[in-house]
Amino acid sequence: MTGAIPKQDWMDVPAIFREGNFCYPAKKSIVEYHKFPNPREWSPDQDDWKLPEGWEDIILKGLKERLDKFRSLKLFMDICVRCGACADKCHFFLGTGDPKNMPVLRAELLRSVYRNDFTTAGKLLGKMAGGRPMTIGVLKEWFMYAYQCTECRRCSVFCPYGIDTAEVTMMLRELLHLVGVGTNWILEPAANSNRTGNHMGLQPHTFKDNIGYLCDDIETITGVKITPTFNRKGAEILFITPSADVFAEPGIYTAMGYLLLFEHLGLDYTWSTYASEGGNFGLFTSNEMMKKLNAKQYAEAKRLGVKWILGGECGHMWRVLHQYMDTMNGPADFLEVPKSPITNTVFDNAASTKMIHISEFTADLIKNNKLKIDPTRNAHRIPTWHDSCNTARGMGLMDEPRYILDNVVPKWYEMPENTIREKTFCCGSGTGLNTGEIMELRMRSGLPRANAVKHVEEKFGVNTLACVCAIDRATLSALMDYWNPNVKVCGLSELVGNSLIMDGEKERETDLRFEPLVGMEG
Ligand code: SF4
Ligand code: SF4
Repeated sequence: MTGAIPKQDWMDVPAIFREGNFCYPAKKSIVEYHKFPNPREWSPDQDDWKLPEGWEDIILKGLKERLDKFRSLKLFMDICVRCGACADKCHFFLGTGDPKNMPVLRAELLRSVYRNDFTTAGKLLGKMAGGRPMTIGVLKEWFMYAYQCTECRRCSVFCPYGIDTAEVTMMLRELLHLVGVGTNWILEPAANSNRTGNHMGLQPHTFKDNIGYLCDDIETITGVKITPTFNRKGAEILFITPSADVFAEPGIYTAMGYLLLFEHLGLDYTWSTYASEGGNFGLFTSNEMMKKLNAKQYAEAKRLGVKWILGGECGHMWRVLHQYMDTMNGPADFLEVPKSPITNTVFDNAASTKMIHISEFTADLIKNNKLKIDPTRNAHRIPTWHDSCNTARGMGLMDEPRYILDNVVPKWYEMPENTIREKTFCCGSGTGLNTGEIMELRMRSGLPRANAVKHVEEKFGVNTLACVCAIDRATLSALMDYWNPNVKVCGLSELVGNSLIMDGEKERETDLRFEPLVGMEG
């Protein structure tokens, strides 16, 4: 950001692709698996994107269909007054200084084509009215900037008209898929999720075995043996979590926390090896894909005959559930309004979806004195709290996690006010951007978040960044390693699991990561 006046109109600045600034395109086999159009080998840094015959018309027809279907899109195309309130709110703009990463200009990439072909002024006056035709240069620009937006919706908090640029990004990605332009990091997990139930493509027995290994570690650390059930018909509760919690650090420690909590309560619950993924990469692809993947959760609840669904720590999983699930795949009239069997609290907020978040469940347990907790076991952790965009802005889950933290750690600290709660900064790598080939971009776009963590690290000695999102746990770990290497990332349920005093446990010498507790350093 130099402050210099640009020498060219933004429409005349082309998107230049070079290794490191774009996500790899979807493999031909993956596009074929999804039965998406135009499977082929191609690369964004080559001139010829091997688009289908008449691709411009395919895009315009797709845009018309979506303008007719989604009133919000039509409004977002028409009502922006260019006030600029959103401009400096996007972490991609703050991290890269690229004007096309201002939310207002990102939306303009689509709006200019809309104006040209769908408004009278644009049809008559073209560029003078801010319109431009659909060209290969425009398409390339769409691809560049649709994948430099994490659909975090921070910009929408500051827009006086409530324009949600994340939805514009969603539409850009949908339109790109119509001509076979998509990324592998998104479409391959979506294919795996459809095929075996989870992003990694773990087979049911592997999923089950992984959780078994976590139980072995729990027994070593606590002396408590846990034997969870899988696909058990008639269980009261179906538990669904992001699969990253089951196979990758640091998520596995969060899963150990869930297992300890449920054992502590004697909860009547089961895991599913069919709906073994809470995350939904359909959200980053298209409405139809999101609906298809999400449908597994209700289908499995119905098959197993549970009363309601408890969900683990995932960001976009909760955005999908909270904002779309009910109308996409509901109403789930075969389920009951969630009621805690431990406290008898009825979660009326989930009267329609029949699904509650583990933090709501845990906060209610603490409030009703149902947990035996020793927060000093987390004394080696001095956390700050990262509001994940989708749980905080997307579903308003802001107080429950803080209440849990108040009880399970001796002390924790807030980051600055304009970087938390609904104004939280994104990890910089959500919506399927957490892929290695764009690492520099990720570190740039995560800088605003890392900067706020640095502030509390220096001021209060914070050494832990806690959150309730599996993608955050993966992406913030890389972000902290780069910007704040003394800060480790953890899930909230990991801290809960560390603090729980289990019946029949042995004296704990380490936390769930096998790291010595304070006073046990040897
Ligand atoms: S949704 Fe987030 S990433 Fe996308 S333009 Fe808005 S602030 Fe930037
Ligand atoms: S804040 Fe809203 S109205 Fe103002 S420029 Fe941004 S999108 Fe347009």
